[in-house]
Amino acid sequence: LMFGKARTCNIVTVPEHEPSECNIVILGANGSGKSDLQEVCLSPAALTVKFLTKRFISEYDPNLEDTYSSEEVVDQQPVLVKVMDTADQDGPVNCERYLGWANAFIIVYSIDNRTSFEACQQYLEAVTLYSKGLQPEGPVILLGNKVDMERYRQVSKADGAALALRFGCLFFEVSACLDFLSVQQIFHEAVREVRRE
Ligand code: GDP
Ligand code: MG
Repeated sequence: LMFGKARTCNIVTVPEHEPSECNIVILGANGSGKSDLQEVCLSPAALTVKFLTKRFISEYDPNLEDTYSSEEVVDQQPVLVKVMDTADQDGPVNCERYLGWANAFIIVYSIDNRTSFEACQQYLEAVTLYSKGLQPEGPVILLGNKVDMERYRQVSKADGAALALRFGCLFFEVSACLDFLSVQQIFHEAVREVRRE
């Protein structure tokens, strides 16, 4: 009889390998590289599919917003990462669609474009205002993209770090074009932060 009970318990247990989920939204001014970052943050298998389907479309439509999912392994633990690529025309005006959905936020600017950096402040304000009092608050990463454009840099690394410090968020610089592995690491870092909460 005991044996039978134990077996029943086993059957109702949630499968051990069910991946947990992590929703990440990418925000920032147009042209800062959000769509490219979304593309390279996913595993090579997902990338192949994306290159076949999306690359083509986004070249023609900068207003395209979409969410891609990828089963990633972060620190030996599976996780279903969903990344929403946004395309706001006028800053964070219609942000309800992603604020409630996201577990983590990546706010992007281009290091060769001061205006895109200034736009980040609005996003940081909108996200922190929304998260205030929420448990968990949801990690925020400020990301300076296009470090391969060093020659045209308009935003110093110190400026990026200072803004991040002011909002209590993480800060990285990358190149979506040159450094795919670093980009993936940033998304994995977001997953780690969500797990820590
Ligand atoms: P979005 O409007 O934020 O989605 O920006 P996109 O991803 O469409 O990128 C805007 C432009 O910047 C495109 O021409 C990209 O190829 C280019 N781009 C994106 N990331 C990088 C990068 O790291 N370095 C350079 N040099 N160009 C980039
Ligand atoms: Mg885009």
